[in-house]
Amino acid sequence: MKSKKTIREQFFSLLGQTSPSPLGVEIHKAEGVFLLSATGKRYLDLISGVSVSYVGHARPEVIKAIEDQARNHLHLMVYGELIQQPQVLYASLLTEHLPKALNSVYFVNSGSEANEAAMKLAKRITGRSKMVCFKNAYHGSTHGALSMMGNESFRGAFRPLLPGVTALRFNNKEDLQHIDKRTACVLVEPIQAEAGIRLPELGFLEALRERCDRTGTLLIFDEIQTGFGRTGTLFAMQKYGVTPDMVTLAKALGGGMPLGALVCNKTLMDAWQSNPVLGHITTFGGHPVSCAAGCAAFQVLLENGWVKEVHEKTEFLKKTLRVHPAVCQVRGEGLLLAVELGSASKVEQTLQLLLEEGVMADGFLYCDTAFRIAPPLCINKEELEGAVTSVLAALDKLK
Ligand code: PLP
Repeated sequence: MKSKKTIREQFFSLLGQTSPSPLGVEIHKAEGVFLLSATGKRYLDLISGVSVSYVGHARPEVIKAIEDQARNHLHLMVYGELIQQPQVLYASLLTEHLPKALNSVYFVNSGSEANEAAMKLAKRITGRSKMVCFKNAYHGSTHGALSMMGNESFRGAFRPLLPGVTALRFNNKEDLQHIDKRTACVLVEPIQAEAGIRLPELGFLEALRERCDRTGTLLIFDEIQTGFGRTGTLFAMQKYGVTPDMVTLAKALGGGMPLGALVCNKTLMDAWQSNPVLGHITTFGGHPVSCAAGCAAFQVLLENGWVKEVHEKTEFLKKTLRVHPAVCQVRGEGLLLAVELGSASKVEQTLQLLLEEGVMADGFLYCDTAFRIAPPLCINKEELEGAVTSVLAALDKLK
């Protein structure tokens, strides 16, 4: 049936909307670091779909992997029953590039699900029920992940949530005393992203590791935004030299397809098999097409020198943006940056002006005074210079 409404009108009426002000641009195609609108306008992608499209859009190797796998087979059976090559190959590649102890992968569909799985497994292994998260953390929108969200205004309306959760202050070593022998796990983003890119202070993650070791608490790193080279090392845990007991991955993990994963030691993972058996079940987790795409994208990253180039690109962005009088601070690590303007209205104006300039950026969930810069890691010098010129031009126009 043909509707008389425009696609824009249908977008607002037919699709569930949760944002009062979505970007609302109709995108027709995406290639490299550019998104093409239905009207032919080109947008430089400075957000990568929030840390997803790290090897750029329409990467030929990723498309080929998707096509090849789709021809072989799509979904066959619930997770873990049949041997599917894309899952095994990807698990092998991932564990090869993670610390040795993180040697077993449970694939799911999303970041929230990965965190759900990690929390459940931690409870099952320790027999404890208390959990610790951090203020201004974001771990997803399902009930369990929401319980670990360190922001009451986003979760208050959805109570009751999981009991026994304590939110500590990020970077506050004194607060770590609240982790005790009744705590099953601590879930932490090594760099808090939605808080507006907050870095861990020197020694904080080490102190957290130490406290978890002392109390027999499992430490879970949520590397859903920080993984896959974004901060200048393959995973942020390598930058800070702290190995968690479990890591959760998603976003970039699927190379543009939906995929999440919990990675931990095999001895921990095996707890899913008893008391009860089938401790975690997923129909689509580790979809073969998503695993094939994710594996191809990760190989592209490993074969190109982009991770090594992250630092130089970051320094260029920091150096050129910091000097603008409207910029209070450029925070962050690698290509995961927050440009602090000190005012929500300035951020709103800037994002709008950037759209007009042909640049797609975005804000943060808990920090409305800064905007995000997290381009695909493959962005080249010329594209980066173009981005900076547009950002500076937008900032010049601020009222
Ligand atoms: N953890 C972090 C750090 C995230 O940024 C997100 C999503 O933004 C999630 C978890 C949830 O991932 P998903 O939206 O795939 O459920």
